[in-house]
Formats: sequence, C-alpha cells, structure tokens
Amino acid sequence: MARPGTIGEQLEALRRRNMYRRRRVLDGPQGREVLVEGRRLLNFCSNDYLGLAADPRLRASLQKAADRWGVGSGASHLVCGHTRAHHELEMALARFTGRPRALLFSSGYAANMGAIGALLGAGDRVLEDRLNHASLLDGGWLSRADFTWYRHGDMSHLAAQLGDNGQARGRTLVVSDGTFSMDGDRCPLAELTGLARRHDAWTMIDDAHGFGVHGRGGRGLVDAEVFGTDDVQILVGTLGKAFGTAGAFVAADEEMIEMLIQRARSYIYTTAMPAALAEATLTSLAIVEEEEWRRQRLQELIARFRAGLAALGIEAPASAAPIQPVIVGTPERALALSAALEEAGVLVMAIRPPTVPAGTARLRVTFTAAHLPADVDRLLEALAGAWPAVGVA
Ligand SMILES: *Cc1c(COP(=O)(O)O)cnc(C)c1O
Repeated sequence: MARPGTIGEQLEALRRRNMYRRRRVLDGPQGREVLVEGRRLLNFCSNDYLGLAADPRLRASLQKAADRWGVGSGASHLVCGHTRAHHELEMALARFTGRPRALLFSSGYAANMGAIGALLGAGDRVLEDRLNHASLLDGGWLSRADFTWYRHGDMSHLAAQLGDNGQARGRTLVVSDGTFSMDGDRCPLAELTGLARRHDAWTMIDDAHGFGVHGRGGRGLVDAEVFGTDDVQILVGTLGKAFGTAGAFVAADEEMIEMLIQRARSYIYTTAMPAALAEATLTSLAIVEEEEWRRQRLQELIARFRAGLAALGIEAPASAAPIQPVIVGTPERALALSAALEEAGVLVMAIRPPTVPAGTARLRVTFTAAHLPADVDRLLEALAGAWPAVGVA
C-alpha cells in the first residue's frame, strides 16, 4: 500500500478513519478491576484468563527468586544467560505438554518468528489460516518460503492448497492458532493434522489462548494422548496469558528443539528472560495444573454472559473460550460502544482492523477466573444501556 504524505499527514488520516491507537496508563496490577487514569474500572480486556497475574503466590515466588537469581539474566541462552531455573521450567513444560522437550522464548511473538524462520526458507512452503495471529503471519512472510493462506477454518480450502504443489520443492508447513485470539473459536485440529500428514507436511499449532484454559489440567487443545509430535511437530504456548507471567515456549521432539537452538534467530540473538521470572512461572504452572476451579469458574462466567447476550438479542459467534467477541462492524461503532461502557465503569477495548478483518470491528470481551458472576451482570447491564445509542442493528 502506498503511503503518501508526511508522518503527520499519515497520523491525521488514521485519526480521520477512527483507526488511531493510543495506550491507556494503568496505575496498579491486573485484576477484575484496574485503575486507569484515576478511575477504577471493571476489566474485561486482559488475557490473564486464570486471574494469576497478580496472585500473591506468584508475587512471593518472584520476590524470593529475585533474591536468589538477581534481576537481569545478563546474556542470551547460548552465551551465559541459561540458568537452572530456565532449565527446570523447560523440563516442567515438556512434561506438562507431554512432549520430549520444550524451549523457552522471551515472547510468543519471538517464538513464532523464530520457529518458522528456523525451519523454512526459499523453496519451502507455508500455509496459514487467514485469521492466524500476526506473529504467525509475520513469521511466514519473513521466512522467504512460498506463503499461502486458506480461508478461516476451511479444511477443503486447505486440502486444495496442499494438493496443488506449485513450484515448491522443499518442506511444507501448515500453521494455525489453536484457539483463535480474536474470535475464541478453535481450529479443526483432527482434520488439519490428518490433511497435513497425508500431504507429508508438518503442522505447527500456536495454542496461546488454550493453555491453562482448555483440556485436561489446562493442557490446552493439543493433548499429547491424542496429538503427539507426529501430528503436531511444533506446539507453541505463551506464558503471559493464562500463566500470568511472561514469555513463551515451543514444545517438540528432541531434534526439532535442537534445530531451533541452532537456527532460531529470535532465540539466539536475544537476552534470556530473567531467571526469577522462570522460577515464578514454575509456581504458576503448579497452580494452573491444580486449581481446576479456575477453569470451571471461567465456563460459568462464559455461559452466564452468552445467556445474557441472547436475552438482549445480541448475536454472538460460537466460542467456548474466555474470548467473547461482540461484533459491531465499523471502527466508529466499536469505539462508541467502548466509550459508552467506560462511562458506565466497564473497560472493554475496541478491536479494529487490521487486527481483525474490515467490517468486523468489535469489542473483544475477555473473562478471567477472578471475575464474579455479578461482574458479568454489570457488563450485561452496561451493554444493554449502550447498545441502542451506538445504532447497532
Ligand atoms: C498473544 C499471542 C502471541 C504473542 O505472545 P506474546 O508472548 O504476547 O508475544 C502469539 N500467538 C498468539 C495466538 C497470541 O494470542
């Protein structure tokens, strides 16, 4: 896309189109309520699904670990930044995901860029769901592999693409979100892995929103008892969402992980996450596995919200995830609705293109296990009040 004009003009054009983005400054921790610019707002936009980001046990664990490890890790993993704490977290994540190895990255963005770039190059092929997270799309584009997308969740489209070999000589990788980040729906994993296997392609699943939330003990969508490393060669999870800390990991077999250590540029050329954070994440992992009530609470909140929306006559796309999109169409409407909710003391961010496709601007409502049923009722009341005013059909 050509971008004429000065930066000032470009910014002005974004403002005119209601596409300008700005940050909100929080004055306290994540939780069911957040302190934003002097106001306490009921918070429905974090990815802290299990309500662990400010958990007292995680805070204590981080403080204690900082006494042992200090703050900075000082170097990349391959130089001298890889501590016993990182190592133990990797082993725990491998066990948790039922895979031989796990490798820590400083963020999910870095994990996706690094993994795809390490495995693919010119002459290879990458096939991605159209609604994949930006980091997966960016990783595919920058890998120099032949990039194709298939329609969201459309396995016949994927099959057609896989059947058409084109110019590709090398490896083929099929990449998908597990639980989609803006819609909360899931990829058809059994079909997808079956297709990939039949076409001799590898599968990479990023389950950033599934870990901690779905599956046995929060193991996510890719249960190792059903989908092993022959089905899903590369499994990505992030630690900044349900786990309440920061960072990410790739879980895979021994050789795949060794390959990433040799080749993933976003692994090699970056400072290791602080060791204390790795230790706090071990504490978090134990809570994620043990405290089933957090997942049950989420399901109760989701059911309450969806029943409430239906009663208001507001349509909601199918989602069993704590991500509940309320699609309103245009950026103006999404912004207006978000502003009206904020007036009522409820924080729900408007999500606009290019984060979501044009015409599907929305409020992305998210729940955490820290919410109470009464919080959902307050959100529904606020929505009922704001809905007619923004002129949504
Ligand atoms: C949030 C997210 C990421 C990025 O993870 P960070 O650790 O926040 O960089 C990657 N993939 C998906 C699907 C995500 O939702």
